[in-house]
Amino acid sequence: MISKITVKAPSSTANLGPGFDVFGLAIDAFNDIVTLTKTKNGISIITDDNIPTNPENNTAGLVVKNMKKKFKIKGGIEIKIKKGIPAGFGMGSSAGSAAAATVAFDKLFGLELDGNSLVEFAGFGEKASAGSVHYDNVAASVLGGFVIVRTNPLDVIRIEPPTKLRMCIAVPKIDIPKKKTKVSRGAIPKKIKLTDSVLNLSNASAIVAGFMRKDSDLIGNSIKDVIVEPARQHMIPGFVRVKQNALKAGALGVTISGAGPSVIAFTKSSSDLKKINSAMSRGFASANIECQTIICKPSKGAADKRR
Ligand code: ADP
Repeated sequence: MISKITVKAPSSTANLGPGFDVFGLAIDAFNDIVTLTKTKNGISIITDDNIPTNPENNTAGLVVKNMKKKFKIKGGIEIKIKKGIPAGFGMGSSAGSAAAATVAFDKLFGLELDGNSLVEFAGFGEKASAGSVHYDNVAASVLGGFVIVRTNPLDVIRIEPPTKLRMCIAVPKIDIPKKKTKVSRGAIPKKIKLTDSVLNLSNASAIVAGFMRKDSDLIGNSIKDVIVEPARQHMIPGFVRVKQNALKAGALGVTISGAGPSVIAFTKSSSDLKKINSAMSRGFASANIECQTIICKPSKGAADKRR
């Protein structure tokens, strides 16, 4: 039996426009690294990053607490978290820690859980940050690639993305409100028009077809959301300009990454990716906001043996 294990989990983007709460994509922009060590007793969290260290309020801590109870594991566990994924920017930061902790726990105790079970345990950890269980980011971070989340019962479908798919991301340097995910979920209308739902469904279906056919153009130009994005965009200063600029610079589709405030442009490797990034920067600059820009690809997941 091993006594210590380290697992790395990638950042992720949720929704991809019309796939609210259903679609996720693992992206190689950032990683969280979690090390679990068996100890005598209790659960402790060690980190240099600005995240809660009470296991109940930390996504990795909550995962370990829940799995320890579920599998009746005696003794204690020390959780060391090295954050690479900036917290609260819509890059799946809370999910990255939860995904890495779940896969690490599975390996440390030789559980050999299947993909859906790993995602279920990781999703439970999200309660510590979002207040509710949700699976889109953790599914991508655990399994890698593009994921479609079905619930009741949980069933995650994973599709390998096209190799030419690229994303340009702009992470604005703005203060993140506490409970950002809760606030941005509250902005979404409770009732939606049937015509809007039909439009989003058609684009979401086309995104899935794009991943199946390995067609980056079809994925990119189906990133169109008439329900959630219009309701949330006011929370991101400069969003309209960032999007317009990116599209003009050659992006195929642009939307909010997860609950924001990062903005993500979808395109393919043959595009001028730097041009898209600087166009996005200029968009944020028009609202007097600096941003970090990143060019990235789809990533493998924490549970992927080839990582
Ligand atoms: P993201 O958009 O990065 O997924 P969320 O808004 O869902 O971010 O969650 C970020 C919040 O979650 C942070 O404010 C932080 O307090 C809390 N949190 C709890 N545990 C972690 C963790 N291990 N890593 C990052 N954030 C965490």
